[in-house]
Amino acid sequence: MKPEILMLRGLLPRQTAQLDEQYVCHRLDLADDREAMLRDVAADVTAVITSGEIICGAALMDRLPRLGMVACFGVGVDGIDLPYCQARGIAVSNTPDVLTEDVADIAIGLTISTLRGITAGDRYVRRGDWQHGPLPLSTRIGGKTMGILGLGRIGKAIATRAEAHGMTVVWHGRHDQPDVQWQRFPDLAAMAAAIDILMIACPGGPATRGLVSREVIDALGPSSYLVNISRGSVVDETALVGALVGGRLAGAGLDVFADEPNVPAPLLDLENVVLTPHIGSASRETRDAMAQLVVDNLDAFYAGRPLLTPWPFS
Ligand code: NAP
Repeated sequence: MKPEILMLRGLLPRQTAQLDEQYVCHRLDLADDREAMLRDVAADVTAVITSGEIICGAALMDRLPRLGMVACFGVGVDGIDLPYCQARGIAVSNTPDVLTEDVADIAIGLTISTLRGITAGDRYVRRGDWQHGPLPLSTRIGGKTMGILGLGRIGKAIATRAEAHGMTVVWHGRHDQPDVQWQRFPDLAAMAAAIDILMIACPGGPATRGLVSREVIDALGPSSYLVNISRGSVVDETALVGALVGGRLAGAGLDVFADEPNVPAPLLDLENVVLTPHIGSASRETRDAMAQLVVDNLDAFYAGRPLLTPWPFS
């Protein structure tokens, strides 16, 4: 009997074929009638495939009495009720490391595009505005100070790239990291007041909800920029939009939003804002590696081996 897996999202074709060979996969995300599917399969499901932004909470997991593992396609596990999993002894895996470099590339790409006006310039050319004169001057990235909120795997990869571009790096996190050479600000608002670019690279979830508050955004001020490749939930989006519309922030590069795929309408009209549709890890190579890690973790779980990348419940 093949083990039965409930899929809250699909993987790539290569890994879908691997899954189909070994498991019975129920695509809840594609079901016309999700309730009917859950009624039919819930009793036999032993693993769930999800991703960071999808809600995998107690309401669903309560209906899966034999659930032993949640495999997350992504490093962020903010959609998963982790305390619930821990209490029930449900293993959780995610996909760290394999996406780090790609997300850092997008973070730096957003920074350059926002400060130097690459996407604004592209629109300028396409609209025919170049016929009437040059694009207004932008600002250089070299010499700027980038403050990184969340100096983890991705934060560090961003930091080395930022330094290579001539920026000074400082950071804010909950714990000191003695091996790190960059200055740490124990207070986020104090860091915001001292930097040109706030780079948000911490996890989402309840612990960081609204961490980049109105106070932090105000501390950044009208000549500073905000770049977010973490989660929309980390930022007070209403305050961010207000600051951008009101000219109290110089610009923003945003890969993530509070209510994806919905983007606050006022941002769509702002030339100093670069918007990308949550593409931090979205290269073919990285998505393939992430999907493979999901399958490899599931294989390990069903073989009774240690997971390759277990979520480290504390
Ligand atoms: P990681 O290695 O766990 O790093 C997260 C860092 O954030 C840690 O250094 C952690 O340090 C810090 N942190 C946690 N809570 C914090 C808080 N309240 N205040 C300040 N710092 C805090 O994770 P990662 O692999 O770098 O990934 C980071 C996040 O990037 C993911 O969780 C995900 O949300 C996001 N992400 C986005 C994309 C995208 O497509 N845009 C793709 C992948 C990942 P302490 O625990 O010491 O505080």
